[in-house]
Amino acid sequence: MSNKNTPDDIKPIFASLAAREDVVLKKIRKQPVEAKVAYRLIKDQLIDEGNARQNLATFCQTYMEPEATQLMSEIMEKNAIDKSEYPETARLEESCVNMIADLWSAPDVDEVMGTSTVGSSEACMLGGMAMKFRWRNLAKKRGLDLNAQKPNLVISSGFQVCWEKFCIYWDIEMREVPLDKKHLSIDTSKILDYVDDYTIGIVGILGITYTGKFDDIKTLDSIAEKYNKEHEHELVIHIDGASGGLFVPFVDPKLAWDFRLKNVVSINTSGHKYGLVYPGVGWILWRNKEYLPEELIFSVSYLGGDIPTMAINFSRSASQVVGQFYNFYRYGFDGYKEIHNNSKDAAMTIAKAVEKTGLFDIYNDGENLPIVCYSLKEDANVKWNLYELADRLQMRGWQIPAYPLPENLDNIVVQRFVCRADLGHNLVESLISDFHDCLEEVENARILYHDDEKPHVQGFIH
Ligand SMILES: *Cc1c(COP(=O)(O)O)cnc(C)c1O
Repeated sequence: MSNKNTPDDIKPIFASLAAREDVVLKKIRKQPVEAKVAYRLIKDQLIDEGNARQNLATFCQTYMEPEATQLMSEIMEKNAIDKSEYPETARLEESCVNMIADLWSAPDVDEVMGTSTVGSSEACMLGGMAMKFRWRNLAKKRGLDLNAQKPNLVISSGFQVCWEKFCIYWDIEMREVPLDKKHLSIDTSKILDYVDDYTIGIVGILGITYTGKFDDIKTLDSIAEKYNKEHEHELVIHIDGASGGLFVPFVDPKLAWDFRLKNVVSINTSGHKYGLVYPGVGWILWRNKEYLPEELIFSVSYLGGDIPTMAINFSRSASQVVGQFYNFYRYGFDGYKEIHNNSKDAAMTIAKAVEKTGLFDIYNDGENLPIVCYSLKEDANVKWNLYELADRLQMRGWQIPAYPLPENLDNIVVQRFVCRADLGHNLVESLISDFHDCLEEVENARILYHDDEKPHVQGFIH
């Protein structure tokens, strides 16, 4: 080897032996690799993955302030579950729960039970389990035959996949209220057709993943209220506020979707969506301990402490929780409000530009969540489709997925932009200009036709 006489520690990175070998392995290397070489090669391995800031497919945050990331990286080694070793970290988590309880209009913040989680998926599991356990305890008391049928959960067909997981993992029948052209959120007039004595609860979604639309939670609450007056079996509501839970309180505080509604017993959100933290944090809160059965609270005697915990995961870094606290503390209510209103302006500006082309039917114009969602008009009379437009946008680095709506509406293919805090005005302008250029390009492109293209998901939507 030509460079074998150069000592390893001063060898240029790209002259190193490791640089000549594959980085992605099936078996652990025998020899170590020097840190700076390992850093460069792994970083390069990820180089063609796309720019997270231009990824408008995701609700998850792609920007935090340098002070926040510094703080988070400095405490990465602290384990959030070691509450007796890191009591101040635990207090910051508790403070976040209190602040969120207040944002969600809890009648008594001190009564609220809550915890951080890895994300909304873990939070939804906990919310669902609490409903299941409470339903079972009450049903037993009423003398219901628990073996006669499976317990069920009522939700619109626009559910996020975590609810399907919940129902599979915990053996619950998922009763889907179908979406249709007239009802792009849960059809409240049909809810009671899906409810019986075995219903553990209804899930209302504040921000349906596909379109960003809100379920009419106020009406859900009045349906539950009336039902509960007439039945011994109690209908309770869990709100999946993964995307809306930390957006709506700042932007539309008058909208009653939260603990102001009597039958809303628990709410989850993703701190890493409009809570503005990098991925890895969610929250679940229960109105009070009545709705979180004791069986789900574990007292962990841990290294000398005796601490209640209700999360599913055990060890994880405290960074994300402290990042959430940083954002709440640093931005305050007004800061969140201004950031979110900017995202809303961005979405509405993009929606107007999209609408102005006359080619698209708009499903969401950024009015509720900063989401722009549209389909190609049936009479648009163009030779390209949204998948081809998505491809063109991707050539300029923008990841803006096209995908079909859920079952029953799956002949409709939509495209969706998720606007986030870091999509500033200048970026919006260049995005719109790229969008127009891409439209012109697909108009003029020579498109090769294959067999009829079936609706499919292009890009990762979540
Ligand atoms: C994103 C999302 C989830 C899952 O959230 P994670 O935090 O990614 O686990 C659940 N429900 C809805 C409505 C969502 O938008």
